[in-house]
Amino acid sequence: MFNEKLVESLSKSSMIRAMFEEGARLKKLYGEENVFDFSLGNPEMEPPNEVVESLKKYILNGEPGLHKYMNNAGHIDVRQKVAEYLQKKSGIPLTYENIVMVCGAAAGLNIALKALLNPGEEVIVLAPFFVEYLSYIENASGSPVIVKTMKDSFQIDADAVEMAITNKTKAIIINSPNNPTGVVYTKRTLERLKEVIERKEDEFGTSIYVISDEPYVSIVYDGVEVPNILSMFEKSIIVNSFSKSLALAGERIGYIAASSRIPEVDILMAAMISLNRTLGFVNAPSLFQKVVADNLEVAVDTEGYKKKRDLLYGHLTSIGFECVKPGGAFYLFMKTPVEDDRAFCRTAARFNILLVPGSGFGCPGYVRIAYCCDYSMIERSLDAFTKLAREYGLL
Ligand code: PLP
Repeated sequence: MFNEKLVESLSKSSMIRAMFEEGARLKKLYGEENVFDFSLGNPEMEPPNEVVESLKKYILNGEPGLHKYMNNAGHIDVRQKVAEYLQKKSGIPLTYENIVMVCGAAAGLNIALKALLNPGEEVIVLAPFFVEYLSYIENASGSPVIVKTMKDSFQIDADAVEMAITNKTKAIIINSPNNPTGVVYTKRTLERLKEVIERKEDEFGTSIYVISDEPYVSIVYDGVEVPNILSMFEKSIIVNSFSKSLALAGERIGYIAASSRIPEVDILMAAMISLNRTLGFVNAPSLFQKVVADNLEVAVDTEGYKKKRDLLYGHLTSIGFECVKPGGAFYLFMKTPVEDDRAFCRTAARFNILLVPGSGFGCPGYVRIAYCCDYSMIERSLDAFTKLAREYGLL
């Protein structure tokens, strides 16, 4: 038998894959145009022109040796540019030595967790959450401790976090703007979290690291401000990627930045750089390191996402569905009119609408709607949502 635990977990983790297969079946049956697939967070947008131009530049006039192995942490000039960019935003002194380039946020999270955790140490995860966190924590031999966010706002419930912290708590993962809710944590919420963490560190004599998973940090609407985590939390580790902000998900490029205020940060950095190699990533893609370093201030068309959010949010709430208005990312987390979110998804599929049950994000009673799709698909889906609302007596 292969890895038995893994094989068993495959059947549990197949929800998004099941949606994908259902989508393929429906598209074959009714035609691509008539199926409304909101299941995947895979941006439909192409990378901005600036990215294409840098890519051309490096392909045509690349420096010699660009395609060779390099230091496991990445190109020093790229790391230095990332450090300067983050220092400007946070006011925290950073150099290339605080940065490691990685194969996307997924690799960054695995590396950061494995560098921090001793077996059995706990990591607080705020529900609803990006479900892969649980696997990443397990990969690092840690234990996830799930803490619910506030019922109606999905902001952090600092009191609940305080109750969950033990002398084994090593880290908390925060993700804002959030997948799956689209919520941006407010400064007030984060200040409360900071107070709680500091109080508990004093009580237990421990260190609790804040891992900030930020792939959506530049996709925000209506001037919403995303509080800067490096400047707020002394022991912060930023994990970011260009999968969403530059629509480069398939190119696997991102970075980890460890705050210079972390005691013995040089040891942490050495551990993370070594893990980039030993976990088998070796180094982040060379060409794309250079490309993203040219484009740190560039982002995809957030106005385009905002238009999609407004159309969908406006329609759903006008026909009786409830959801928090997302301040960023490209997800809506909608309350289901019945408790059973999986049954709701099956009913939605009868109207050719594909959604992901909130249970998959540790939050039953909701569904995630990923609107990183074509605007015209959202327009075509509105009637189907109206029929779905009627089915549940909302209209
Ligand atoms: N974290 C969150 C919250 C995500 O939504 C995703 C991808 O959807 C990731 C991390 C992984 O991103 P990457 O493609 O950079 O590995």
